[in-house]
Amino acid sequence: MFTGDLEKLAKEGLLRAARDREGLQGRIVSISGARLLNFASNDYLGLSAHPDVTGAAQKAVLEYGAGSGAARLLAGGTLLHQRLEEETAKFLGRESAIIFNSGYHANLGAIPALSGPEAEIFSDELNHASIIDGCRLSRAKVHIYKHKDNGHLEDLLKASGARKKLIATESVFSMDGDTAPLEEIFHLSEKYNALLYVDEAHAIGVFGGGRGLVSQLDLPPIPRLVQMGTFGKALGSYGAFIAADKDIIAWLQNTARTFLFSTALPSSIIGASLAALEIVSTGKAPIKTLWANRDFLLNGLKNSGLVLCPTESPIIPILFDSVEEVNELSKKLFDSGIYAPAIRPPTVKRPRLRITVSASHEEGDIGKLVATLKLLLR
Ligand SMILES: *Cc1c(COP(=O)(O)O)cnc(C)c1O
Repeated sequence: MFTGDLEKLAKEGLLRAARDREGLQGRIVSISGARLLNFASNDYLGLSAHPDVTGAAQKAVLEYGAGSGAARLLAGGTLLHQRLEEETAKFLGRESAIIFNSGYHANLGAIPALSGPEAEIFSDELNHASIIDGCRLSRAKVHIYKHKDNGHLEDLLKASGARKKLIATESVFSMDGDTAPLEEIFHLSEKYNALLYVDEAHAIGVFGGGRGLVSQLDLPPIPRLVQMGTFGKALGSYGAFIAADKDIIAWLQNTARTFLFSTALPSSIIGASLAALEIVSTGKAPIKTLWANRDFLLNGLKNSGLVLCPTESPIIPILFDSVEEVNELSKKLFDSGIYAPAIRPPTVKRPRLRITVSASHEEGDIGKLVATLKLLLR
């Protein structure tokens, strides 16, 4: 079964396989016996191996058990879950927050709960698969607007007669590294009476002192704004949150199916998220180092002849014309001790090497990446 389909994928260079680590996530990872400089992780602040974070996970697992045993509303939650929601809301200056098991769960559950068959959704064409799937599950009419094109978005909003509208966008686009024009989108959401759903998966811990791109913008009080973010990327743990006004959160607690019908996250994960949030919210996370490293890499790649996405974040995608080219480069990098994965269709239209910088990198690591890229592409 599926043998022919798999052969076809392999022939097109599109077959995927997991490359599993033999130890910690971090600056250096060990894969298939090789020690590699890691430019593939979204653990931007190196928090996944931070002793406070792993220590909190250990403490929580002994206090509350390994598994949570049930969905949140059925005795699956703990005081830690409650505290993480309170701390998240406080962190973002919102009335309330709800934890989902992952970013995927959040988008899959919240987007349908906040829209529905009689609603219309306006979604950036480069939005993450989980947003796309959430839109599909909602049975709402979905309008895809051109990437970051507010003129197109406004035309679609203007033409819509729907009573319920929801605009969905990432704040930092996960495969391109650029940012959404949130301020203008926010004004459009006001003008056309639409909910604004912002996915900050790659902005939490990175922008706005760790509070995300929305927080950086200093918008007026914002009842129609729904902020989604994850604990699994810069916060080094796992899971996700939605922060908003309290009625929206109460509505999600009552209607988001991925919240209602999935076993709650285990306490170890929640403990880790709480510890990571504390590090970021008290200004102890190495966000400045992250940005300095990112600027150092971009500078190194200047005049290299490589085609970069117009990135505004620590996600640095290098574009290629063919899958073969990017596969070959990624493999050669691996053989040179550098882990930088090829991202191929259908995840993206144009094949790319997706490099992510972290605060854990040293200048020498970035220097080696730049030198190796230049050497291999000569
Ligand atoms: C990673 C990601 C998600 C999914 O989050 P998980 O916690 O990994 O399930 C959602 N949206 C965006 C933009 C992402 O990059």
